[in-house]
Amino acid sequence: MVSYKELGLVNTREMFAKAVKGGYAIPAFNFNTMEQMQAIVQAAVETKSPVIMQVSKGARKYANPTILRYMAQGAVEYAKELGCANPQIVLHLDHGDSFETCKSCIDSGFSSVMIDGSSKPYEENIALTKQVVEYAHKYDVTVEAELGVLAGVEDEVAAEESHYTKPEEVIDFSTRTGCDSLAISIGTSHGAYKFKPEQCTRNAEGKLIPPPLAFDVLHAIEEKLPGFPIVLHGSSSVPQDEVDTINKFGGKLPDAVGIPEEQLREAAKSAVCKINIDSDSRLAMTAAIRQHFAEHPDHFDPRQYLTPARDNMKKMYIHKIVNVLGSNDKL
Ligand SMILES: [Zn+2]
Repeated sequence: MVSYKELGLVNTREMFAKAVKGGYAIPAFNFNTMEQMQAIVQAAVETKSPVIMQVSKGARKYANPTILRYMAQGAVEYAKELGCANPQIVLHLDHGDSFETCKSCIDSGFSSVMIDGSSKPYEENIALTKQVVEYAHKYDVTVEAELGVLAGVEDEVAAEESHYTKPEEVIDFSTRTGCDSLAISIGTSHGAYKFKPEQCTRNAEGKLIPPPLAFDVLHAIEEKLPGFPIVLHGSSSVPQDEVDTINKFGGKLPDAVGIPEEQLREAAKSAVCKINIDSDSRLAMTAAIRQHFAEHPDHFDPRQYLTPARDNMKKMYIHKIVNVLGSNDKL
């Protein structure tokens, strides 16, 4: 058993309370590689922002859970080396799918876990979430739960009301589970193809404009649970310049579309205090690497193409922190 406190990590409790009060959101960036980790830490230190580094099931499989845990420990030390005396870094499990996965993360030094029972019937979601909360709270680890189903790109009825979180359920759910934060579904979606073209409109240049987030549902939830930390998943904006660079240098991502940043900024001012961004980092990395290979066909040292990739991710992280989430200067 390793406590996250020995690693210099923090849980989300205090940072969420401050974010809700302050009208900003904490960035939750997924990572699987050293370059992503370095870019996240550099961006957080330079902007004096708290940050959540999160690990998905796929990341655990790709990188190995033990390595990721040591990377998070390294992130804290790296932040100090970069001049941040008291870094606020959370190591969070994204979409934990069972009690066992959450327990193994808690036991190995994670400071926060998500238990995602959203695909289960309501009562089963409550029972599973409660079980994780009881274990996690013994070690002062915070728990994110999910209520409502986030549409993926495959889902034919992505925009239907029934997928949204039901505001009338949130009080019962949060009280009975004891969860520390709640991921809700108000129209965000996972991946780089969040909406099908037929769900969108097109602007004069033919670019897709996605349907707006359901702010009425968000406000109804806030009314039921004043001040309770709300989380948005699937909140990459899929920046058009990165998509254009990828397509210009041999990639093929037609009609990739995300959540407009103005809407995320709007959400961050409310009880939304954690915004998950994964795809945008993948796009920034891929765009820089594709461009580098096109311009330097003779290069084969990974450091040659991973350096601009890391720089481009860092630029994107800083932009999100300062211009979208507003978590800069909050340490
Ligand atoms: Zn998610």
